[in-house]
Amino acid sequence: MKKEKIFNLFVGSNNQGKIKEIRDLLPKKVEILSPKDLFIKSPNETGKTFEENSFLKAKFFSKKTKMICLADDSGLEIDSLNKLPGIYSARWGGKKNNFNLAIKKVYKELKKNNKSWFKIKQSARFICSLTIYWPNNKFVIVKGKVEGTISKFKKGKNGFGYDPIFIPLNKKLTFGQMNPKEKYKIDHRMKAFKKIKKFF
Ligand code: IMP
Repeated sequence: MKKEKIFNLFVGSNNQGKIKEIRDLLPKKVEILSPKDLFIKSPNETGKTFEENSFLKAKFFSKKTKMICLADDSGLEIDSLNKLPGIYSARWGGKKNNFNLAIKKVYKELKKNNKSWFKIKQSARFICSLTIYWPNNKFVIVKGKVEGTISKFKKGKNGFGYDPIFIPLNKKLTFGQMNPKEKYKIDHRMKAFKKIKKFF
Protein backbone atom coordinates (compact mmCIF):
# COMPACT_ATOMS: atom_id res chain seq x y z
CA MET A 1 0.00 0.00 0.00
CA LYS A 2 1.13 3.55 -0.80
CA LYS A 3 2.87 5.21 2.13
CA GLU A 4 3.45 8.72 0.78
CA LYS A 5 1.17 11.35 2.30
CA ILE A 6 -1.44 12.91 0.05
CA PHE A 7 -1.25 16.69 -0.43
CA ASN A 8 -3.38 17.12 -3.55
CA LEU A 9 -6.73 15.44 -3.68
CA PHE A 10 -9.73 15.36 -5.96
CA VAL A 11 -12.95 14.94 -3.94
CA GLY A 12 -15.41 13.16 -6.22
CA SER A 13 -18.70 14.67 -5.11
CA ASN A 14 -21.11 17.35 -6.29
CA ASN A 15 -22.79 17.54 -2.91
CA GLN A 16 -21.55 20.75 -1.28
CA GLY A 17 -22.63 19.55 2.19
CA LYS A 18 -20.41 16.49 1.87
CA ILE A 19 -17.48 18.43 0.41
CA LYS A 20 -17.65 20.83 3.37
CA GLU A 21 -17.61 17.92 5.80
CA ILE A 22 -14.69 16.22 4.03
CA ARG A 23 -12.80 19.56 3.89
CA ASP A 24 -13.28 19.89 7.66
CA LEU A 25 -11.99 16.35 8.24
CA LEU A 26 -8.82 16.73 6.15
CA PRO A 27 -5.68 18.47 7.40
CA LYS A 28 -5.63 22.09 6.19
CA LYS A 29 -2.46 21.52 4.12
CA VAL A 30 -4.31 19.17 1.76
CA GLU A 31 -5.39 21.04 -1.40
CA ILE A 32 -8.70 19.83 -2.75
CA LEU A 33 -10.44 20.10 -6.10
CA SER A 34 -13.95 18.90 -6.85
CA PRO A 35 -16.02 18.21 -10.02
CA LYS A 36 -17.38 21.77 -9.86
CA ASP A 37 -13.84 23.20 -10.33
CA LEU A 38 -13.15 21.12 -13.44
CA PHE A 39 -16.68 20.93 -14.90
CA ILE A 40 -16.79 17.14 -14.71
CA LYS A 41 -20.15 15.36 -14.44
CA SER A 42 -20.56 12.53 -11.91
CA PRO A 43 -20.93 8.96 -13.19
CA ASN A 44 -24.17 7.00 -12.73
CA GLU A 45 -24.28 5.22 -9.39
CA THR A 46 -24.93 1.74 -10.72
CA GLY A 47 -23.52 -0.18 -7.73
CA LYS A 48 -25.67 -2.25 -5.39
CA THR A 49 -23.81 -1.28 -2.22
CA PHE A 50 -22.30 1.88 -0.70
CA GLU A 51 -18.85 0.33 -1.23
CA GLU A 52 -19.42 -0.36 -4.92
CA ASN A 53 -20.67 3.18 -5.51
CA SER A 54 -17.84 4.92 -3.64
CA PHE A 55 -15.36 2.75 -5.57
CA LEU A 56 -16.87 3.46 -8.99
CA LYS A 57 -16.95 7.22 -8.31
CA ALA A 58 -13.36 7.36 -7.02
CA LYS A 59 -12.05 5.32 -9.97
CA PHE A 60 -14.04 7.36 -12.52
CA PHE A 61 -12.77 10.71 -11.22
CA SER A 62 -9.19 9.50 -10.80
CA LYS A 63 -9.12 8.27 -14.42
CA LYS A 64 -10.60 11.60 -15.64
CA THR A 65 -8.27 13.85 -13.63
CA LYS A 66 -5.18 11.63 -13.26
CA MET A 67 -5.28 12.70 -9.62
CA ILE A 68 -5.63 10.77 -6.37
CA CYS A 69 -9.34 10.77 -5.73
CA LEU A 70 -11.48 10.41 -2.62
CA ALA A 71 -15.15 9.56 -3.13
CA ASP A 72 -17.92 9.01 -0.64
CA ASP A 73 -21.15 7.09 -0.94
CA SER A 74 -23.46 7.41 1.96
CA GLY A 75 -27.05 7.26 3.02
CA LEU A 76 -29.67 6.51 5.60
CA GLU A 77 -30.99 3.02 6.32
CA ILE A 78 -34.35 2.74 8.11
CA ASP A 79 -35.00 -0.75 9.43
CA SER A 80 -38.82 -0.72 9.14
CA LEU A 81 -38.46 0.31 5.47
CA ASN A 82 -36.23 -2.66 4.68
CA LYS A 83 -33.16 -0.42 4.92
CA LEU A 84 -34.49 2.16 2.44
CA PRO A 85 -33.66 4.81 1.31
CA GLY A 86 -30.15 3.26 1.63
CA ILE A 87 -28.14 3.69 -1.56
CA TYR A 88 -31.12 5.62 -2.99
CA SER A 89 -30.85 8.35 -0.30
CA ALA A 90 -29.85 11.08 -2.75
CA ARG A 91 -32.31 9.85 -5.39
CA TRP A 92 -35.26 10.23 -2.96
CA GLY A 93 -34.63 13.96 -3.27
CA GLY A 94 -35.47 13.93 -6.97
CA LYS A 95 -33.40 15.31 -9.83
CA LYS A 96 -32.53 18.45 -7.91
CA ASN A 97 -31.51 16.53 -4.79
CA ASN A 98 -34.15 18.37 -2.77
CA PHE A 99 -33.69 17.30 0.85
CA ASN A 100 -37.17 18.50 1.90
CA LEU A 101 -38.70 16.23 -0.70
CA ALA A 102 -36.58 13.30 0.51
CA ILE A 103 -37.66 13.85 4.13
CA LYS A 104 -41.33 14.08 3.08
CA LYS A 105 -40.91 10.76 1.30
CA VAL A 106 -39.46 9.16 4.45
CA TYR A 107 -42.48 10.25 6.51
CA LYS A 108 -44.87 9.16 3.73
CA GLU A 109 -43.29 5.70 3.52
CA LEU A 110 -43.23 5.26 7.31
CA LYS A 111 -46.95 6.17 7.47
CA LYS A 112 -47.76 3.89 4.54
CA ASN A 113 -45.98 1.07 6.33
CA ASN A 114 -47.65 1.65 9.70
CA LYS A 115 -50.12 4.41 10.61
CA SER A 116 -48.78 4.42 14.19
CA TRP A 117 -45.13 4.51 13.10
CA PHE A 118 -44.34 7.36 15.54
CA LYS A 119 -45.31 5.21 18.55
CA ILE A 120 -42.53 2.78 17.71
CA LYS A 121 -38.79 3.47 17.94
CA GLN A 122 -37.72 3.73 14.31
CA SER A 123 -34.18 2.40 14.33
CA ALA A 124 -31.96 3.72 11.58
CA ARG A 125 -28.33 4.35 10.74
CA PHE A 126 -26.20 6.52 8.52
CA ILE A 127 -23.60 4.60 6.53
CA CYS A 128 -20.60 6.02 4.74
CA SER A 129 -18.19 4.25 2.45
CA LEU A 130 -15.04 6.09 1.38
CA THR A 131 -12.70 5.03 -1.40
CA ILE A 132 -9.30 6.49 -2.19
CA TYR A 133 -8.19 5.64 -5.73
CA TRP A 134 -4.64 6.33 -6.96
CA PRO A 135 -3.71 6.89 -10.62
CA ASN A 136 -1.61 3.68 -10.45
CA ASN A 137 -4.85 1.72 -9.78
CA LYS A 138 -4.18 1.14 -6.06
CA PHE A 139 -7.24 1.71 -3.90
CA VAL A 140 -8.64 1.40 -0.38
CA ILE A 141 -12.29 1.11 0.57
CA VAL A 142 -13.52 1.72 4.14
CA LYS A 143 -16.88 2.03 5.87
CA GLY A 144 -18.31 3.79 8.94
CA LYS A 145 -21.76 3.92 10.52
CA VAL A 146 -23.70 5.70 13.23
CA GLU A 147 -26.81 4.16 14.80
CA GLY A 148 -29.87 6.16 15.81
CA THR A 149 -33.61 6.70 15.40
CA ILE A 150 -35.93 8.75 13.20
CA SER A 151 -37.37 11.86 14.86
CA LYS A 152 -41.17 12.27 14.84
CA PHE A 153 -40.66 15.76 13.44
CA LYS A 154 -38.07 17.55 11.34
CA LYS A 155 -35.85 19.53 13.71
CA GLY A 156 -32.92 21.88 13.19
CA LYS A 157 -31.41 23.79 10.30
CA ASN A 158 -27.78 22.63 10.40
CA GLY A 159 -26.10 20.06 8.19
CA PHE A 160 -27.70 18.67 5.06
CA GLY A 161 -29.81 15.79 3.74
CA TYR A 162 -31.60 13.78 6.41
CA ASP A 163 -29.81 15.50 9.32
CA PRO A 164 -33.03 17.14 10.66
CA ILE A 165 -34.75 13.77 11.18
CA PHE A 166 -31.88 11.65 12.56
CA ILE A 167 -31.27 11.38 16.32
CA PRO A 168 -28.02 9.53 17.05
CA LEU A 169 -28.11 6.88 19.78
CA ASN A 170 -27.95 8.27 23.36
CA LYS A 171 -28.53 11.86 22.18
CA LYS A 172 -31.63 14.04 22.35
CA LEU A 173 -30.94 16.35 19.43
CA THR A 174 -31.12 15.59 15.72
CA PHE A 175 -27.96 16.06 13.64
CA GLY A 176 -29.76 19.11 12.22
CA GLN A 177 -29.90 20.67 15.70
CA MET A 178 -26.28 19.96 16.59
CA ASN A 179 -23.48 22.28 15.70
CA PRO A 180 -21.29 20.74 12.95
CA LYS A 181 -18.39 20.04 15.33
CA GLU A 182 -20.64 17.93 17.58
CA LYS A 183 -21.95 16.01 14.56
CA TYR A 184 -18.48 15.34 13.12
CA LYS A 185 -17.30 13.83 16.42
CA ILE A 186 -19.74 10.93 16.11
CA ASP A 187 -20.91 10.62 12.54
CA HIS A 188 -20.51 7.90 9.92
CA ARG A 189 -18.18 9.94 7.68
CA MET A 190 -15.74 10.65 10.52
CA LYS A 191 -15.74 6.97 11.56
CA ALA A 192 -14.91 5.94 7.99
CA PHE A 193 -12.38 8.75 7.71
CA LYS A 194 -10.49 7.57 10.81
CA LYS A 195 -9.63 4.41 8.87
CA ILE A 196 -7.92 6.34 6.04
CA LYS A 197 -6.47 9.19 8.12
CA LYS A 198 -2.99 7.69 7.87
CA PHE A 199 -2.81 8.61 4.18
CA PHE A 200 -2.96 12.37 4.91
P1 IMP B 1 -24.65 10.01 -2.46
O1 IMP B 1 -23.64 9.37 -1.56
O2 IMP B 1 -24.08 11.14 -3.24
O3 IMP B 1 -25.40 9.01 -3.26
O4 IMP B 1 -25.71 10.75 -1.53
C1 IMP B 1 -25.96 10.36 -0.24
C2 IMP B 1 -27.24 11.00 0.30
O5 IMP B 1 -27.43 10.45 1.60
C3 IMP B 1 -27.14 12.51 0.50
O6 IMP B 1 -27.64 13.23 -0.59
C4 IMP B 1 -28.02 12.72 1.73
O7 IMP B 1 -29.38 12.78 1.36
C5 IMP B 1 -27.80 11.43 2.51
N1 IMP B 1 -26.70 11.61 3.49
C6 IMP B 1 -25.46 11.09 3.46
N2 IMP B 1 -24.72 11.50 4.50
C7 IMP B 1 -25.53 12.31 5.21
C8 IMP B 1 -25.33 13.07 6.40
O8 IMP B 1 -24.25 13.12 7.01
N3 IMP B 1 -26.39 13.77 6.80
C9 IMP B 1 -27.57 13.77 6.16
N4 IMP B 1 -27.81 13.11 5.06
C10 IMP B 1 -26.79 12.37 4.56
